[in-house]
Amino acid sequence: ANPGRQQAINTITNRAPSTVTPTDYLGDIWAEDVFDLRRMEWALSKTAFKSIKKTVQTGEPLDPATADVVAAAMKEWAVSKGAKFFSHVFYPMTNITAEKHDGFIVTNSDGGAITEFSGSLLIKGEPDGSSFPNGSLRMTNAARGYTAWDPTSPAYIMHTDNGATLMIPSVFMSWTGEALDKKIPLLRSNAAMNKAGQEVLKLMGESDIAPLNSSCGAEQEYFLVDANFANSRPDLLLAGRTLFGAPPPKGQEFDDHYFGAIPARVQVFMQDFEDQLYKLGIPAKTHHNEVAPGQFEIAPYFEAANVAADHQQLMMTLMKATAKKHGFMLLLHEKPFAGVNGSGKHVNWSVGNSTQGNLLDPGSTPHENLLFLLFCGAVIRGVHLHGPLLRAVIATASNDHRLGANEAPPAILSVYLGDQLEQVFNDIKEGNIHTSAGGGEMDLGLSQILKFERDPGDRNRTSPFAFTGNRFEFRAVGSSQSVSGPLVAMNTMLADSLNWIAAELEPALEGGASQAEAVVKVLKKLMNEHGNVVFGGDGYSEEWHRIAVEERGLKNIPTTADALPALREASVVELFSSTGVLSPLELESRFEVYAEQYILSIEVEAKLVIDMARTMIYPASNAYLAELAATAQNLAALGVELDSSIAKAVAAQINQLSTTIANLEEVMGREGFASTEEHMQFCATEILPRMNEVRAAADTLEGYVADELWPLPKYQEMLYIK
Ligand code: ADP
Ligand code: MG
Repeated sequence: ANPGRQQAINTITNRAPSTVTPTDYLGDIWAEDVFDLRRMEWALSKTAFKSIKKTVQTGEPLDPATADVVAAAMKEWAVSKGAKFFSHVFYPMTNITAEKHDGFIVTNSDGGAITEFSGSLLIKGEPDGSSFPNGSLRMTNAARGYTAWDPTSPAYIMHTDNGATLMIPSVFMSWTGEALDKKIPLLRSNAAMNKAGQEVLKLMGESDIAPLNSSCGAEQEYFLVDANFANSRPDLLLAGRTLFGAPPPKGQEFDDHYFGAIPARVQVFMQDFEDQLYKLGIPAKTHHNEVAPGQFEIAPYFEAANVAADHQQLMMTLMKATAKKHGFMLLLHEKPFAGVNGSGKHVNWSVGNSTQGNLLDPGSTPHENLLFLLFCGAVIRGVHLHGPLLRAVIATASNDHRLGANEAPPAILSVYLGDQLEQVFNDIKEGNIHTSAGGGEMDLGLSQILKFERDPGDRNRTSPFAFTGNRFEFRAVGSSQSVSGPLVAMNTMLADSLNWIAAELEPALEGGASQAEAVVKVLKKLMNEHGNVVFGGDGYSEEWHRIAVEERGLKNIPTTADALPALREASVVELFSSTGVLSPLELESRFEVYAEQYILSIEVEAKLVIDMARTMIYPASNAYLAELAATAQNLAALGVELDSSIAKAVAAQINQLSTTIANLEEVMGREGFASTEEHMQFCATEILPRMNEVRAAADTLEGYVADELWPLPKYQEMLYIK
């Protein structure tokens, strides 16, 4: 290895093992830094607590008087834990988390200082919105954005080297009330789903119906690379992925990493990180190695979608910071290493309430079966009608490298139900299920499905959207993404489908049909129109790619440039405005923000490719060629002829590198696009392929140039040395 790389390897090898701080008793640390209902009950008067509890559980607005009382108690608690600052935490349309810190301290008239935190500070903060992406809303919001506490997500204390800060999960909106964040649409989508779901449950004869909520459990994949390597890779630092690098001789052919022993250093990192999660009330549940070397997964237990989404964001921030402390760089990019498995985030999603339970659980009684079939049918209809929307909400420049790469779900949205459930829906479609005329109960034996699907061995891993026994698992979501976008899309399409079902069910029931007859009738129609989206076979096969498009009429949407325009389609605009989740203006602003991000991230990478190729790879390759030439010359002076094939090959690749750099530069100079869509297409079809050409030349050179001259840490070093 070259001196820099060798030094990195030495440092890592000689690293003293991190000390493991013994874990405290879980019961003691669990949620110790969270101002949750338990703490509020202790700190508040009975009436104030009753009022805030109602808000937390139903999302109803908090009255100003209670807000003042809660704020005072919250401050008291935070200050007792050493906090001097508070911060509204919000989630702009980028996938990041934003914070604005303010001091509790105010000076009083006699020059002293007191701490102050009123209900109005809790409910409304006022960061400058102009530096956050807001798409076309820039015109209307005059740079001002407001944050307000979302009481359904608890406040917590964040400890950093600078001390403790009270963090307040918040919504972020323009002064005209438009959503500028990822939380507002999620809350609205839940409300829409609740409303539609209640309607269906009422029609099905339920009388006691608690508010419906969606749940989310996200499985998060990530890579760990030693910081000594990562810091000498400008591409990892700036783009989060390697823009160069030849595949290692030992890849993941043997899959020997999956569920293998976790390296000691990584274990220490995980323990540290998970203890922090526990203190913040985040239920870290499983962790294990993933398929690729250096790849791992963590899956917290599922929670209410809104809280789970906040916790996901917090978890991503924490895992990066903790990895840094342990000498790692943690990569959330969907495809950090070409030719090596990428990272995803499986979003497990279900809907239910405290009275009817999980409505995506088949249950054990015939009546529960019927409710389940309706909700499951609603999902099928939703995915069929809004496949392109589901594709759009997972569309990012980085996830494009993963989707459709035969390791991740394909870019065609289909639904996997499992053999038994697929059979039930097919029987309904074909009219093979006969409900007794007398309206007697019909037992479909669906409780079997639960048992079967719980066995992960039987699951179809090639499907982007799979039923897994009591929930759906959206597997095509990217590892670096916020889960909010996917949850919003799923809740909203479900709301729309439940509305459709209610509208169909009502006349059927009024016509005197039994519940079972009415449900089967509605689902038969639903399956005839939307059954094409159900697919249980191999999603990676070429056959499916052909059938899906040619026979089933589904769309294969390979890139973000192809996917994002779905947000502008009339059907999607109508879906969001009819459910009250996003106004046409809000939706348009999202299209603009996401499109801009796509273009920007490709342009940044392209510049980096040019820079690294010129300043690192070209000089190293030339130095090697000079060595070869000098050796040949010296030998020639002695009358010895050195075979010149290697020198010629290196020279040819160096020329190829120059040519490809020039080509990339040429397209980078192009401007004046007629539309954002055209600009995105240009990135996908002109810039990316030219970046890949530079990479191909550079990666070939990596196979020639003397190891000691190669400036960039190699794949095998980054993936295997821990
Ligand atoms: P696997 O890797 O087999 O898919 P894991 O146990 O690793 O399963 O992850 C499953 C995730 O799904 C966890 O976060 C789990 O809490 C979550 N989950 C389980 N049941 C539900 C449900 N009803 N709704 C939403 N998420 C759920
Ligand atoms: Mg899973």
